[in-house]
This record gives sequence, structure tokens and C-alpha cells, in this order.
Amino acid sequence: MASDVETGEIGIRFWGVRGSIAVSGPEYAGFGGHTNCLEILGGSNRLLVDAGSGIVPFGADWRAEAGERLDIVLTHLHHDHVIGLLLCAPLFVPGVEVNIYCGHLGGASAEDALRTLFSPPLFPLTFADIPAKVRFIGFRAGEEISTAGFRIRTHALNHPGGATGYRFERQGKALVVLTDHEHSGDPANADKDLAAFCRGAGLIAYDATYDPAEYAAYRGWGHSTWEAGAALALAAEAPVLACIHHAPDHDDRKLAGMERNLTTVLPNGFFARQGSRFTV
Ligand SMILES: [Zn+2]
Ligand SMILES: [Zn+2]
Repeated sequence: MASDVETGEIGIRFWGVRGSIAVSGPEYAGFGGHTNCLEILGGSNRLLVDAGSGIVPFGADWRAEAGERLDIVLTHLHHDHVIGLLLCAPLFVPGVEVNIYCGHLGGASAEDALRTLFSPPLFPLTFADIPAKVRFIGFRAGEEISTAGFRIRTHALNHPGGATGYRFERQGKALVVLTDHEHSGDPANADKDLAAFCRGAGLIAYDATYDPAEYAAYRGWGHSTWEAGAALALAAEAPVLACIHHAPDHDDRKLAGMERNLTTVLPNGFFARQGSRFTV
């Protein structure tokens, strides 16, 4: 199925923007409760970053047919980034090809870990029961890969067990996804390597789990703040910061307040809302 993003543009659609665990209720209706799943769009191409619970509405929307192909690049394998695979409709369509990339295991693929997820007693089915043809591709964060019409540069992130950041490039446009990631040192001083990785990107989607006032209590947990994300965007001369991986205890009111504070330092910054999209 073709995307409707114009040739020469890269789009991002936020199917899931929550971190740690999915949430629901009227107090979350504005920003949404599904965990991380981002669709990257360019011309007739698309791929997904992560397979959190947000991949379930993506799969319901995508009329997968035999012969179609879905590429998923995983930031890492924590549950909030893979749990949606269990109910991802394209996996249950015979003849669909699903390619799953993973870069934080020293070159190993996600196959062993995901076979554990797809096995009793955790789940009634195994991959042998999955009709789609699933391929697992491992690489090392820092290497460049290419799939679904995108040149994809990668960068190791600071997270317990590791994680991979992605920079998608196409026809001179670039878009970066950095989650899960904890900034190091002073949040106002962006990491130089990471700023170089992000330089000139039209948008950075960034792990802004914690409000700066909360962060001290969670140092070492592997997540960051909108303040550190804004410093990174400014250092990288990236015009737009999209904050993602919202903490499960941050309701719409709290996130709207964090977004107001972000815009005082970065007018084009925003906290991503589930279902919304942005084009660079
Ligand atoms: Zn996470
Ligand atoms: Zn994580």
C-alpha cells in the first residue's frame, strides 16, 4: 500500500508514544496510551520503528496482502517496544514478509529473544505457527543499513542493555529517532557525537520520559528529559523536537504543561500525540 507522503519528503506517524507500559482512560485520551511504534513514510515506502502496542492499530489499518513486505527496525527489546508483535495483524497473513532489524546485541539478531516471547507459557503460539515469513537481521549500532527506500544511519544509545538510535535519510531529508536514551552529564550540554548524528535533521523524536524536576530520582534508569532533548536539537540545528516515550503516570494535563515549558526554549517542540503525523 502506498503512503501519501510526497516524493522528496519524509513523514512520521505516531502509532504509540507511551513508554514502559500501555495506559488507558479519559485522562490519557489526548496523548494516547499505546507504547512505542512509529511509522516512517517516504513516497511509496514505509517502515516501522518498534513494535510496542501501537503496532496493533497500525496492523489493523494496514490491509496486508500476500507479497507485501513490512520492515521493522527495533530500538531494543524491552517489552514496551516489542509486546505488540503478539497481536500484529500482518504476522497472521500468509505470504507477507516481515523483516525485523535489531542493532544492540553486538551483531546478533532478535530471533532468540522473540522466539522466547512467542512460546508457551508466555504465549500460546510459536513462530512455527505464524503464517507470515519472518526474517531476523542483526547489525551493530553504528553501522549503516538500507531498507524500504531509506538510507539508515544508526547510533548506540545510553540505556540499560543498550538501544539503537536511527537516522532515516531520503532525497536530502533526514529524520532521527532516539529512544530509549539517557543523556549524560549536564542536560544543557548536548553530547557532541549525538549532535553530529542529528545534525540538520528535520525532526528528532526523543525520549523525554521525565520532567526535569523528576529526573534526579531516576538517574541511571536510561531515560531523558525534554530539557536535554531541546539542548540536543539546538546543538544539532534541528528545527523540531518531538517528545516521545511519555511516562505512564503523566496524564494529558501533565504532558500539556511539559509541552508548554518545552516551547519556551524550542518554539517548534511538541509532545507527540498518538495518531498524529508530521512531515519534514
Ligand atoms: Zn521503553
Ligand atoms: Zn527500554
